[in-house]
Amino acid sequence: MQVTTPVVAVHYAEIALKGRNRHVFQRRLRNNLLTALRGEPVESIHHVESRFLVRLVDPARADDAARKLSRVFGVAWLSAAASVRRGGDADSGERAIAAHLDNVQAIAAQLAARDVGTAGSFRIETRRSDRSFPLPSPEISRLVGRAVGQTIGLPVDLSAPDFTVHVLVLHGETLVFTQRVPGPGGLPAGSGGRVLALLSGGIDSPVAAWLLMRRGCRCDFIHFYAGRAPDEADAAKIERLVSILRGWAPTSLHLYLAPSFPYETRAIGTIDEAHDMVLFRRYMVKVAERHAKRTSSQALVTGDSLGQVASQTIYNLGAIGPDVTLPVFRPLIGMDKHEIAARARAIGTFEVSIEPYRDCCSIRSPHPVLRGRAREVLEMSERMDMAAAVEEAVHAVVRVVVAEPGAG
Ligand code: ATP
Ligand code: MG
Repeated sequence: MQVTTPVVAVHYAEIALKGRNRHVFQRRLRNNLLTALRGEPVESIHHVESRFLVRLVDPARADDAARKLSRVFGVAWLSAAASVRRGGDADSGERAIAAHLDNVQAIAAQLAARDVGTAGSFRIETRRSDRSFPLPSPEISRLVGRAVGQTIGLPVDLSAPDFTVHVLVLHGETLVFTQRVPGPGGLPAGSGGRVLALLSGGIDSPVAAWLLMRRGCRCDFIHFYAGRAPDEADAAKIERLVSILRGWAPTSLHLYLAPSFPYETRAIGTIDEAHDMVLFRRYMVKVAERHAKRTSSQALVTGDSLGQVASQTIYNLGAIGPDVTLPVFRPLIGMDKHEIAARARAIGTFEVSIEPYRDCCSIRSPHPVLRGRAREVLEMSERMDMAAAVEEAVHAVVRVVVAEPGAG
């Protein structure tokens, strides 16, 4: 039988909508795919008819390669496939086509036998990207279905099959695969600018950061710790969260640790308990904004969800930073807690997020005002010399580089 090669077919969705910049996005995606495959022997990667075909040297690595690629932003779905080659135009005679179909049938039957599991029915789904291929899709499905049916001994069910064998006819080759692995969607890393995410150690903020990463942003992180010095900060948990997110990024991630004490020393005796939380929130956003400008981030990201806790009422969110000039993205604002938790599980951060942690927010008063007012917040900021607190914090920020991906 003709030799088949292992291929991962990587399909992207949204990039296809980009007009003149499309090739820029495609190039980024290609680079990110290769980065994700570092360590895997890749024979070639080509853009073929709205998808990337990654040819691997070793068929045994196809599933691992597919798993790695399924974490690359910009990927809609992918499949580890067998590629059955066709000859050139000279080879498009009837005999050559019949021989090619024989090979496709044999490979399809082989893959079906391997992957059918306990399915009770099957179908063949054929797409003909090469419109010049002489046989129409239903005819190809029928022929391949016959061979597969003989091998696995199951009935065809066109409307609700348990198992599908996909046949994709391209110019010069036909791909056969049995699984479509969903990718994360979004846009390729590096295409969306740079953001600074406020990371608390809870469930929400890693999800918020991930959503911006998925839109192509390079994401830095800032965490405010309790205690006098960074080494007193219980930063191990925060670093683990960032290392899980590193598994979704093509490069090292930067985590900045900022102290909360410049705020605390000035707030004691000046800020009443009811306003402490709102003022502390303001402090965090102001420090993050200054730091973002120093490190070329163009926006802040927080894990706020409207009404989830008292500090996240619409009034308080509005009162915290009326003078903040960088955009503050709150991608979870309309999501319920259970949706956020489900997303955290899928990303891999949930289990670490729920570990106990001494967050500097947990030492604040549990009964903050619900209707903070911007004017009052600004007056209180003046009174406690928030500007000096921010200045002190910005200079005390330290950086941790998270180079390696970690497990949850
Ligand atoms: P999570 O902590 O996962 O965000 P939460 O409901 O506990 O969930 P809050 O503590 O109310 O959230 O904080 C709201 C947002 O403020 C967080 O999502 C995060 O972006 C930011 N934040 C809170 N605490 C810190 C912190 N110690 N360092 C950095 N950012 C923080
Ligand atoms: Mg929190």
